[in-house]
Amino acid sequence: TEQTEEWLQEYVDDWVAFYHNKIGDGEVASYIPELQKADPNDLGITIIGKGGMTISSGATDSPFTIQSISKVLSFIVACMERGVGYMLDKVDVEPTGEAFNSIMHLEMRQVKKPFNPLVNAGAITVSSILEGRTSDEKMEPIFELLTEMLGYRPAINVDVYESERDTSIRNRAIGYYLLETGFLESDLNITLETYFKQCSIEVTVNDLAQIGLILANDGIDPETRDEIIPRQVARIAKALMLTCGMYDASGKFATYVGVPAKSGVSGGIIAAVPPRVRDEELPFLEGCGIGVYGPALDDKGNSIAGIRLLRHIASQWDLSIF
Ligand code: GLN
Repeated sequence: TEQTEEWLQEYVDDWVAFYHNKIGDGEVASYIPELQKADPNDLGITIIGKGGMTISSGATDSPFTIQSISKVLSFIVACMERGVGYMLDKVDVEPTGEAFNSIMHLEMRQVKKPFNPLVNAGAITVSSILEGRTSDEKMEPIFELLTEMLGYRPAINVDVYESERDTSIRNRAIGYYLLETGFLESDLNITLETYFKQCSIEVTVNDLAQIGLILANDGIDPETRDEIIPRQVARIAKALMLTCGMYDASGKFATYVGVPAKSGVSGGIIAAVPPRVRDEELPFLEGCGIGVYGPALDDKGNSIAGIRLLRHIASQWDLSIF
């Protein structure tokens, strides 16, 4: 296995070097001014698999804010607080086919609830449902879950938080719309504060890989065998990631990569590779977690180099769940 590890490491190093500047006309997100400081050519990946074996390459130490990937976590926490039945009553689990920050779909048909928790309208609704009277109280269980998964307590990047809060015209519009339709369960400002804070949690690709590993294993930490997320909740989270995690490019991602994943506008992607028999030479990949970072985005808001790299290794290693 040492040989395999060495081989995998070299392989990943080669492809990170190849893809790190293949960003076409992709650009870093600018609608949150603070995000513009990222280096568009950065590319990093960490894969954590069986036995804790870790392959890490490229910009693995660059911290970035978790952004929309937090929507998976807040939904999981809300399910753990309120129960799955309650949450599925409040937010639907259908892809929108629209941009992540679309308002249109809220008005398009007789909506009884926001389409899914991985687009802004659904995620803001989830933030309103989290228990707690203040945004910090609402955030606490998210931090506790992260601390359990990562072994340290991540922090909020205050500059990004303030930058988003002060430029959040679209999200406020969505918030007011949700308020009007009666979907919000907390005060609008507290809800939005919570949403901006959760998006501003700072992580690395190693952190994303570790979270992906636990999701891939149905909520169980494969090292300690501790159940961190109830199995049913982890499964719903992965179903949502597969169908809605890459916004209106989720169908293509499922087609070409084929694993549950979630992206964020700072350029992060988390992927959970559920175990299934693949290449017998590579048992390490069964139930692995992957974190990728590449801040140059395509027009949907997904990391360009990140998707190219994932697509490459998924086809080489037969990672698709299908
Ligand atoms: N904070 C971002 C926003 O709501 C998150 C969006 C994203 O990562 N796609 O605009």
